Amino acid sequence: MKAYKNDAGEIRLFRPEKNMARFNTSSARIALPTFDPEVLTGLIAKLVKLDERFIPNQKGYSLYLRPTMIGTQATLGVGPPGSALMFVIASPVGPYYPTGFKAISLEATDYAVRAWPGGVGDKKLGANYAPCIVPQLEAAKRGFHQNLWLFGKEEYVTEVGTMNMWVAMKNKETGQKELITAPIDGTILEGITRDSILSLAKEKLVPEGWKVVERQYTMFELDDAAKEGRLLEAFGSGTAAVVSPVRNISWKGKIVDCGLKPDQEAGEIAQSMKEWIERRQYGEEEHEWSYRV
Ligand SMILES: *Cc1c(COP(=O)(O)O)cnc(C)c1O
Repeated sequence: MKAYKNDAGEIRLFRPEKNMARFNTSSARIALPTFDPEVLTGLIAKLVKLDERFIPNQKGYSLYLRPTMIGTQATLGVGPPGSALMFVIASPVGPYYPTGFKAISLEATDYAVRAWPGGVGDKKLGANYAPCIVPQLEAAKRGFHQNLWLFGKEEYVTEVGTMNMWVAMKNKETGQKELITAPIDGTILEGITRDSILSLAKEKLVPEGWKVVERQYTMFELDDAAKEGRLLEAFGSGTAAVVSPVRNISWKGKIVDCGLKPDQEAGEIAQSMKEWIERRQYGEEEHEWSYRV
């Protein structure tokens, strides 16, 4: 989660109740205690107020907040921890792209899986991240910014590194413009930015003729759409960057172009989503998503 400060010195948290709900479902899954979401939000708000001087007040800057919980019982063995420590890491952060958007290149990972049905890939657990470091390093070694997690022999596109994934493309049969993201089926993290984008897309893109779809889609489909010029843009979403435009995806030894022009760093939807979300985060548009500290 992040705390944002505007020119007037007002401080806001973005959708804390949703972040706290996810913290609770993640904790509960590994037998750690849960907290009353409102009480926890109130405590974090107090911390943010105390650390107010560390929140930069320029657009794009914020105080990154990482509520964390660990079991602390000093025993070996598999069982619910008898004691736990909950703490919040806070750090000022600058804009993800100080010089504006920079489209990234992805490497599709098919030799390892991040999550599987019935697993814990939909929870924010430290255990989900450690096994992702080697595939990430492998992708970086070959010059890619992040890896793209595929699933199954169908090569379903699930998510990017630590971001949810979005594609905008024209339907093969009807030509209908669709904004597509993978469904909540246990194999993706339930991003709060993802939820915000879905909601904004329904509010602002559907009236302009777009269809917003949560469904499984495959690398084969993307490749097909790219070849036929139907793939308009792709981007990742998460609290850190809000949105991260994707230029291309390396897959099966070829490069799938995601639709940006060579001199273009972000597609129209990625650009608009970032602006719409930031407006609410910094309180330029008053909205129920933002919590005044
Ligand atoms: C945190 C995270 C996201 C993004 O979630 P937000 O709530 O939007 O920040 C996506 N995927 C993974 C694996 C994550 O850990």
